[in-house]
Amino acid sequence: VDGIKKTFPIDSGFLGSKKSVKAVNHVSFEIKEGETFSLVGESGCGKSTTGRLVTRLLTPDEGKIWINQEEISKMNENRLREVRKQVQMIFQDPYASLNPRMKIREVVGEPLVIHTNLSTAEREKIVAEMLEVVGLNSYHADKFAHEFSGGQRQRIGIARALILKPKLIVADEPVSALDVSIQSQILNLLKDLQEEFHLTYLFISHDLSVVEHISDKIGVMYLGSLVESGPKESIFANPQHPYTKALLSSVPIPDPRAKRERILQGDVPSPVNPPSGCLFHTRCPYSMDICKTTVPRLRETAEQGHFAACHL
Ligand code: SF4
Ligand code: MG
Repeated sequence: VDGIKKTFPIDSGFLGSKKSVKAVNHVSFEIKEGETFSLVGESGCGKSTTGRLVTRLLTPDEGKIWINQEEISKMNENRLREVRKQVQMIFQDPYASLNPRMKIREVVGEPLVIHTNLSTAEREKIVAEMLEVVGLNSYHADKFAHEFSGGQRQRIGIARALILKPKLIVADEPVSALDVSIQSQILNLLKDLQEEFHLTYLFISHDLSVVEHISDKIGVMYLGSLVESGPKESIFANPQHPYTKALLSSVPIPDPRAKRERILQGDVPSPVNPPSGCLFHTRCPYSMDICKTTVPRLRETAEQGHFAACHL
């Protein structure tokens, strides 16, 4: 992903004045085959929009996206249909993303109807196999989405996403709606499936503790920009950007005696009127004069492949 930008017009309603939001502003990253890259940040930071750009549910205003050697950012619809088979999405709320009037066998098998010419019998066989793969069985196939728990529904969403044997999965907050005990089951399932099917993940979460075990690399977003990115170990052991440090300070730690400083104050500023200079300066405890006027650029830190955008 190279320098993608996406701006949404918004109607401010006042004398028809038009404003816009830079939802994603010049974001770049690379995910190697079989890796998990996680995008982390508070809601409204542009991580979901980035996911939708990568799956081409949205088209970037600027910048380029390649999958394998193929540039998909301006690809025509016919070719895009082919690419879509290789790129699938898992969503936060499996309930909202599952058609309530369809039986589970239809929900999971629908991509096969859209993208292949397989017979009904062939499709049924693949659906049954895929339900097994995600820990369900054919007993579940004739039920409707509302008959399942949240965790089971997410398993159904995963089965549907995997049915075309994709290479890349964009998972947007796939466990945020689930109880903590169920979260780890689904995360473990995603990890197992990654090995079994050699999947590549773009994993989106507001919660660093969720991505800790699943990620190879992490990118931290704030108000549409990537402010830090690097190998997971390096981000956790040696975070450079004050925003990343603040996010880490809110990750729960098992030892109740341990204390962590909380440095994240206030709300995220409006993306319609983002702050000048460093986007984080209104909340940063280390803000200096230069931070209000000059945008810090992503620079490699002392550790290779670890980048941060901060004047410190
Ligand atoms: Fe804080 Fe300045 Fe760094 Fe921004 S550039 S994160 S305001 S120290
Ligand atoms: Mg989102």
